[in-house]
Amino acid sequence: MKDGESKYAYKKKSAWERFSKTQITKAVSFAEPYKTFLNVAKTEREAIHFIVSTAKTKKKEILVNQEKSAAIVIRGKKPVREGFHIVISHIDSPRLDLKQVPLYQDSESNLALFETHYYGGIKKFHWVVIPLALHGVIVKKDGTKVTFRIGEDEKDPVFSVPDLLPHLSHDVQDNKKINEAIKAESLDIVIGSMPAKGDFKEKIKAAILEKLHKEYAITEHDLISAELEAVPAFKARDIGFDRSLVGAYGQDDRICAYALLQAILDIKNPKHTVIALFVDKEEIGSEGNVSAQTATFLRSVIRKLDVNVDIDSVLLKSKMISADVQSAVTPNYTDVFELKNASSLGNGVVMTKFTGHGGKYMANDASAEYVAEIRAMLDKADIPWQTGELGKVDKGGGGTVAKYFARLGMNVIDLGAPVLSMHAPYEITSKVDLYSSYLAYLTFLKS
Ligand code: MN
Ligand code: MN
Repeated sequence: MKDGESKYAYKKKSAWERFSKTQITKAVSFAEPYKTFLNVAKTEREAIHFIVSTAKTKKKEILVNQEKSAAIVIRGKKPVREGFHIVISHIDSPRLDLKQVPLYQDSESNLALFETHYYGGIKKFHWVVIPLALHGVIVKKDGTKVTFRIGEDEKDPVFSVPDLLPHLSHDVQDNKKINEAIKAESLDIVIGSMPAKGDFKEKIKAAILEKLHKEYAITEHDLISAELEAVPAFKARDIGFDRSLVGAYGQDDRICAYALLQAILDIKNPKHTVIALFVDKEEIGSEGNVSAQTATFLRSVIRKLDVNVDIDSVLLKSKMISADVQSAVTPNYTDVFELKNASSLGNGVVMTKFTGHGGKYMANDASAEYVAEIRAMLDKADIPWQTGELGKVDKGGGGTVAKYFARLGMNVIDLGAPVLSMHAPYEITSKVDLYSSYLAYLTFLKS
């Protein structure tokens, strides 16, 4: 009764206060290589490359699907037919993709630009006037692959989407709704301004084509079979006088992916066979052959572990954590949150019983039994956690990959770090939430 609350009441408590001094030291140092990971893995392919090379260095069994999704497996003491403990995270983030014929010259402004098509849920005004890097691949007709990564080295050039000066934006932007002020078709990236020598109709475009051919041996046709992604060129940094937070692009969902990777690397001789899944395309609804909706990949992993096993009955017996981020209560916008049921930065990993929108449409609604099991597991291991719901009912909504696996019959619940400014080019997380997530995945995989 010291704080005037009943001892039977649910209380939110800062993980900074719950963790011991030693644990806080561990949490803070855990975030250092995390920032390096965020800097080297800004796209789904780069994340998979990092995960594969780390797993191979540590001699772990890893299966890869088309450079875009992967599964790390550690065989347990119990036979495969008794089911798995699976944790899944996604490794794609919102960004600006280049169109297939992206290059054009705007002769009025004397510039060459790339056309883009945004990927995932963005607020378009976030993506103008910031430094952007270009990452991705160009695949030529003979199958050879050119890898792009420009704008990350201090000596590299960067790219940027220009915006109108305030002096002239009154009619075209200032009086519009905020998400209509910047049009998707105006999210084009400046890539050059120097004209070529010679008798070309569009000299700036010609100069860019010549440069691309000279440096990468590619033509405009090759860009048709390319996946080039413009991502923020910022580096991950500590935020705050106390350095308690991390600011970086792509922390949805790479904070969970990183915590999961570290957790599975630390597992030895688990009871059940454990699987860490990393998938692409979550931000566009988990569509396509490298996404969470492609259960074929998981089935092929299971078949590799035990060719004779009845896959459906194994799936029914398996348990899953969907490791994805939750919205953190945002200062100055607390109105959209129902604060008793919202999660805040620094209170530990967030357990989300259900996602979806409206009357729980499109939700995975985990059973009370499974929630109790996970809650007991977290408390037993003394891991800081909080419960969370995306926002007030009918204010919006969103989903994770949880529902696609729940359809296969297994118990699934969302458990991940809270994120401030989710889907913005610069997202904020807390170091203790990252560490709580790692401890939660480790404990679940071991159990
Ligand atoms: Mn996510
Ligand atoms: Mn997301």
